[in-house]
Amino acid sequence: MERVTAATTPKLRLDDLDAEQAAAVRAPRGPVCVLAGAGTGKTRTITHRIAHLVSAGHVRADQVLAVTFTARAAGELRNRLRELGLGGDAGQVQARTFHAAALRQLKYFWPQVIGDVPWRLIDSKFPIVAQAARGNGLSTDTDSLRDLTSEIEWAKGSLIAPEDYAAEAARLHRDAPYEASKVAAVYAGYEAAKITPDGLYLDFDDLLLHTAAALEDNVAVAEEFRGRYRCFVVDEYQDVTPLQQRVLDAWLGERDDLTVVGDANQTIYSFTGASPAFLLDFSRRFPEATVVRLERDYRSTPQVVSLANRVIGAARGRIAGTRLQLIGQRPDGAEPVFAEFDDEPAEAAGVARAVGKLLGNGVPAAEIAILYRINAQSEAYEQALTEAGIPYQVRGGEGFFNRPEVRQAVQALRQAHARDDIPDARGANLVTLVRAVLRSKAGLTKEEPVGAQARERWASLMALVQLTEELAAQHVAADTEAAGESVVGAAGDSDEDDQHPTAPGSHHPADESGLDLTGLLRELATRSEARHPPTVQGVTLASLHAAKGLEWDAVFLVGLADGTLPIQHVLGPDGTVSDETALEEERRLLYVGVTRAREHLQLSWALARSAGRKGRRRRSRFLAGLVPDDSPASRIAQHTTDRRGPKRVLPGCRICGRPLLNTQATMLGRCSRCPADIDNGLLEALKDWRREKADELSLPHFVVFSDTTLTAIAEQRPADDRALVAIPGIGAKKLQTYGADVLAIVRARSNASD
Ligand code: ATP
Ligand code: MG
Repeated sequence: MERVTAATTPKLRLDDLDAEQAAAVRAPRGPVCVLAGAGTGKTRTITHRIAHLVSAGHVRADQVLAVTFTARAAGELRNRLRELGLGGDAGQVQARTFHAAALRQLKYFWPQVIGDVPWRLIDSKFPIVAQAARGNGLSTDTDSLRDLTSEIEWAKGSLIAPEDYAAEAARLHRDAPYEASKVAAVYAGYEAAKITPDGLYLDFDDLLLHTAAALEDNVAVAEEFRGRYRCFVVDEYQDVTPLQQRVLDAWLGERDDLTVVGDANQTIYSFTGASPAFLLDFSRRFPEATVVRLERDYRSTPQVVSLANRVIGAARGRIAGTRLQLIGQRPDGAEPVFAEFDDEPAEAAGVARAVGKLLGNGVPAAEIAILYRINAQSEAYEQALTEAGIPYQVRGGEGFFNRPEVRQAVQALRQAHARDDIPDARGANLVTLVRAVLRSKAGLTKEEPVGAQARERWASLMALVQLTEELAAQHVAADTEAAGESVVGAAGDSDEDDQHPTAPGSHHPADESGLDLTGLLRELATRSEARHPPTVQGVTLASLHAAKGLEWDAVFLVGLADGTLPIQHVLGPDGTVSDETALEEERRLLYVGVTRAREHLQLSWALARSAGRKGRRRRSRFLAGLVPDDSPASRIAQHTTDRRGPKRVLPGCRICGRPLLNTQATMLGRCSRCPADIDNGLLEALKDWRREKADELSLPHFVVFSDTTLTAIAEQRPADDRALVAIPGIGAKKLQTYGADVLAIVRARSNASD
């Protein structure tokens, strides 16, 4: 990416653009539409176009309004404008979300339009929707309210009034939480309840509606506004809702100074009412528009680009008809890796290992992302990264243990634990008990509920049940392991746990066999406390929806099993497709995911949800024909998939030789129960050195080496380069940068103790 220092005048560099991009940038004032695939420089083109229009004197910087859809995307726009010398100060280009722009305008125009009626922006629709639901005899539980709320948001985004809702919902086959007439009644009740004698309550959609109306109905307001803003730019235009389009039309009036860029094949927000039709019909609406198509992909290696082309090549329907073959412009890179795992924990551990390897090779953590379909999938990855000592941040959502439904569920388990009439359930019985508590106290249902929000919540609760199953199974495994150890006499002092803290999820002594509720709650607490606080320099965990428009050097697309991507509810009970349109949106999500990667891309899936289960899943139907026969996926499958038992080819413990079962153990090269032959003095010396080094290079400490890697060094005391790179987390780049220092410290320490 180019780096241009900020200045007060635009620093336009037309050499940084290819011929088509330059054509869009140089097009005269008037409508311009860039229709292009991922990574072809659409965002770059609009920022340069703004710089061009300003430097050529067509428009003043403060007369430009650039809008997009999410706060993160608006931030990205501002950053890129800043690089072109169009900083975010007053008197500069405004780059905002639709909502933020509307809020500012409405504040300004309200007195003129509405007078002195006070108004307030509501923080949450929930209480008002609840009131309306109650008034219509509907449930006010959280799931029901969330689904009603998203249905109201969809209707408002689609400019469907309460009285038209029922007809439109039927026409569009909405997957609504209740009968359409009931939803319509709640919607009408919700709208009415916001008008009170003390003033008006507005939600985010009302901001847009009122802004449009202020300009449509008031000549003076429209004139003042249109005198102020003359040039409009929209990024990610495929995601515009009819409501946002109406605002845009109101801004424009009769004018046509509008540049839009988008990729219909990245439409992934249809559930909010967004539609690519506005993008695709742009040149019909503005026949004189300059229309540019971009095909060169500057973001990704040709290997990634080729996979992206094949993923979207299989798409069907009108949107798919608009796709263009992307042509990779970067030097060759590695082929995308496909990896199949026995179960989800193994997948997460495998991904964490691969992330550790990249970090060891010098790829910065902030340049690595793990992307999944739904937020509940983050749990396994948060855990695996925590165990590996790798910092991360969860984007566009909270970490697993901070989600309201998970907190509520854990609280319910604690309360159950405090009661004395709860049976002493262990092992499989504990799983049954947990399910029962979550059913009665946290609203876990047997079947997956209807509605996006309820599904997310349900998936989080199911993830907690699954975690219980895994912990119970691990507990049995650890007991067996402990028994084996006492036979060979390798370890086993009763105070071993104190001397060598065990990894989360491993054995805790119990006087009877099987994990019980006390043990489970302790495990959950340990896990949630062990989680790293969010750090911007960590690996990104994000849903595919939150990843749009962004890019990373390395991307891991995980959970690519049928039923996760595509998500279950677009499939019929027997795996047939129940909703073609929705299936195509799922395919576009995979396309968005693939195209986030600059260089490294790994796609993985698991055959079973949890360890020890029969592998009934199959990889995503979108991968059909894409996984090469000689792919490591086949090799991994051969190694790890033995339906008859837990025979796996996994790295072994350097002390007892048994397979290593979790990421931290793999990084340390020994299982948690084997004695840690650590030289604590050496560990301290290494940490001191790391602190100085990190400060000197202005890097966060973990970027130099993670705690786990330093621990592994202090345990294994490598004597030469070869021994050093054998430690996970240390690759060629780290060896080159820090190898000599580290080996000198190890040597000095062993000389001192000789
Ligand atoms: P998306 O559809 O994912 O939003 P996009 O079309 O907006 O992608 P950009 O993010 O603008 O693409 O560009 C992708 C990457 O390619 C960026 O890192 C950008 O700086 C780089 N790039 C774009 N055009 C060029 C060019 N002409 N020369 C060199 N690099 C370029
Ligand atoms: Mg973009």
